[in-house]
Amino acid sequence: MPADPVAIARDLIRCRSVTPDEGGALAYLQDFLARAGFEVHRAIFAEPGTAPVDNLYARIGTSRPDLLFAGHTDVVPPGNEGAWSHPPFAGEIAGERLYGRGAVDMKGGIACFVTAALDYLAANGGKPKGSISLLITGDEESVAVNGTVKLLKWAAERGESFDHCILGEPSNVEVLGDTIKAGRRGSLNGTLIVTGRQGHVAYPERADNPIRGLMSLIAALQAPLDEGSEHFSPSHLEFTSVDVGNTTVNLIPGEARARFNIRYNDRHSQTALKTLIEQRAKAAAAGRVRYSIEWQPSNADVFITKPGPFTELAVAAIAEITGRQPKLSTSGGTSDARFIKDYCPVLEFGLVGQTMHQTDECAPVQDLRTLTAIYRRIIEKYFG
Ligand SMILES: [Zn+2]
Repeated sequence: MPADPVAIARDLIRCRSVTPDEGGALAYLQDFLARAGFEVHRAIFAEPGTAPVDNLYARIGTSRPDLLFAGHTDVVPPGNEGAWSHPPFAGEIAGERLYGRGAVDMKGGIACFVTAALDYLAANGGKPKGSISLLITGDEESVAVNGTVKLLKWAAERGESFDHCILGEPSNVEVLGDTIKAGRRGSLNGTLIVTGRQGHVAYPERADNPIRGLMSLIAALQAPLDEGSEHFSPSHLEFTSVDVGNTTVNLIPGEARARFNIRYNDRHSQTALKTLIEQRAKAAAAGRVRYSIEWQPSNADVFITKPGPFTELAVAAIAEITGRQPKLSTSGGTSDARFIKDYCPVLEFGLVGQTMHQTDECAPVQDLRTLTAIYRRIIEKYFG
């Protein structure tokens, strides 16, 4: 019997794989892929301070080229389950939509590329003309340290190599076929700390209130960073928290802190961006404000997958199936593509992202079938 993306997506939704729990989702895929002739491996990675996470790598074929499909089976928590009109782990179909946590992000996408691969194999005597690999992690929605980044390294150490990758994250904005993600902005977190001198609020002349200095530095750091680039919107710095931790009404605090995040484009490297921010803070402080900036380590560097034959192939497949010309976008948050790009060119294409992480997350049944047809066409063209 041919594989059915709706049935696979439903079965995966029924696995309660709230990050970082495996929830039976990888075991289900392992069984399914092994029966289709894939060589399947499971790899558990751990690190002090983080939960151990289960991952899956599967491959069929030994020759090049190798087309990699990547994704994650972990999902964000459902929130208040009573607020869902269909239980989040039931996989119910209503009004031609499949409901459940992960329906679009991204158990639905996995179901579609697994079905497409199996269908291609069935039509080609069970063997691809090159190789098809699947890299599925259980650590994308959380800290993303025991997932794709380690699984890629593990695979490379085994001698695996990939030529091109499709990451099945929900990339489309309004309708299936409108958007491919061909790069992502970088993300960097920092904390601005201004030091003053604590004192009684009735005697401000004996104290030095750090809030004043913090305000002037915050204003300076909010100046535009650039005007965007060929493939990216302007970089942006946003303050996310301002804290003095003061619970008293008659005390001038001794220290004030502000946390910020920068989403940056390909006009900056991480190092150059840090230098730019530090220069702006120094100029605004003008020798009068005592401050420091603490940077958090970041593994989310900016990248772009330059247009070329692989992108053209994907665009053509999407156009043939949907009649739409997808836009190449670099918007949105980070994804595991930031790790994959170090091994091979990667494009992100999956379902429509509108309900991801929301109550009543759902995917139209027709979208699951159409996405499967698109992936099938991509595989056909790739090995054609
Ligand atoms: Zn996702």
